[in-house]
Amino acid sequence: MPKQSSIHYQLSYWEHTSFFSNIDLLIVGAGIVGLSAALRARERAPKAKILVLERGPLPVGASTRNAGFACFGSVSELLDDMQQDPEDEVWALVERRWKGLLRLRGRLGDTAIRYEPLGGYELFRPEEVERYETCASHIAAFNQSLQPITGLKATYQLAHGAAADFGLNGVRYLIKNQAEGQLHTGELVKALLEKVQAAGITIYTGLGVEALHDTGGGVEVETASGWSINAGQVLVCTNGFAPQLLPGVEVRPARNQVLITQPVPQLKVKGAFHYDRGYFYFRNIDNRILLGGGRNLAAEAETTSTFGTTPLIRAALVRLLQEVILPGQEVEVARWWSGILGVGQRKRPIIEPVSSRVAAAVRLGGMGVAIGALVGEEGADLLLG
Ligand SMILES: Cc1cc2nc3c(=O)[nH]c(=O)nc-3n(C[C@H](O)[C@H](O)[C@H](O)COP(=O)(O)OP(=O)(O)OC[C@H]3O[C@@H](n4cnc5c(N)ncnc54)[C@H](O)[C@@H]3O)c2cc1C
Repeated sequence: MPKQSSIHYQLSYWEHTSFFSNIDLLIVGAGIVGLSAALRARERAPKAKILVLERGPLPVGASTRNAGFACFGSVSELLDDMQQDPEDEVWALVERRWKGLLRLRGRLGDTAIRYEPLGGYELFRPEEVERYETCASHIAAFNQSLQPITGLKATYQLAHGAAADFGLNGVRYLIKNQAEGQLHTGELVKALLEKVQAAGITIYTGLGVEALHDTGGGVEVETASGWSINAGQVLVCTNGFAPQLLPGVEVRPARNQVLITQPVPQLKVKGAFHYDRGYFYFRNIDNRILLGGGRNLAAEAETTSTFGTTPLIRAALVRLLQEVILPGQEVEVARWWSGILGVGQRKRPIIEPVSSRVAAAVRLGGMGVAIGALVGEEGADLLLG
């Protein structure tokens, strides 16, 4: 028997005329970027017919599967970025992340997304003294560069003593980022979906796009169900999956594996924690620990858009949990999952025309919660002129 997803249908005349005709703007992908683009497009074009097509039953890429850090960069991650990109570009990106977070919080409200300003922390173990010292030596200069962005005199501060308060084991140094917060990833996407629907925009889930043809007069959109739909313009917001639709765009998928524990009695950890240049991260949520990362342990294997977890990374995450985060406590993992990032040579997102009627807003990297709202809006602006 053919699988359900491989059954191809013809659109009936009724379906075509009532649901899929006269589309002004079609957005592919209902993550933070696609949904933010839809909201912006509605503000710019109140009467336009705007559709969002999402391949999954829910948006299933990164936006519903991330860690919910409202962050803009730890010291070591920013130093790493400065190895690749000029310093002024790194600060410009940090500013965009900061503004993106403000936009998201402003649009949806802190209560709806369960935003909590608990701060962020970068931790270093004794064997990472050299990396810590390099980071510590940049704090003063980084704080100066950040003051016009966050409005704080000392965004980063040393907070070594807090390691004991959080019950962490084997952590010698901690750098606190007071401007960082955390939010509830699921509630964020739910609030965005509700806003988009309230704005009269239809989101079709379970409807993947297989190909796009700019015909000059419009865009022919081939869907996985075999339907072909015409739209005036198309914005591709598929992040790590972008190469499937736009092979020329410089994005590659990067899988990230995540666990969440069962509730932990008297959990001491509070805040968003970064470790090993951001490759590992953990936080508290609902009296549990959410912990993820480790893709650097198997960089090639994790360059994939296939969901799943692996014994190697699961073991590394469990080790970090048991040795550092919850030492001496028997805590069960309640759930494992993975999400797909979109990364590239540069950290900067791609917001570019692909043809005269198709544009892409992709490659969000590891801080797409922060920058996603702006990227979506800029993508919509690019098409709407
Ligand atoms: C495990 C993990 C942890 C993370 N933690 C954080 C964090 O703490 N803070 C932070 O700022 N960022 C974090 N990120 C990054 C952040 O989640 C992403 O950068 C952001 O969600 C990207 O949003 P997006 O809308 O561009 O992409 P996505 O959310 O991936 O959305 C793309 C959508 O397109 C759909 N799609 C794909 N192909 C097609 C197609 N052909 N047709 C139709 N639909 C299609 C997908 O199903 C998906 O829903 C994390 C990412 C992961 C994976």
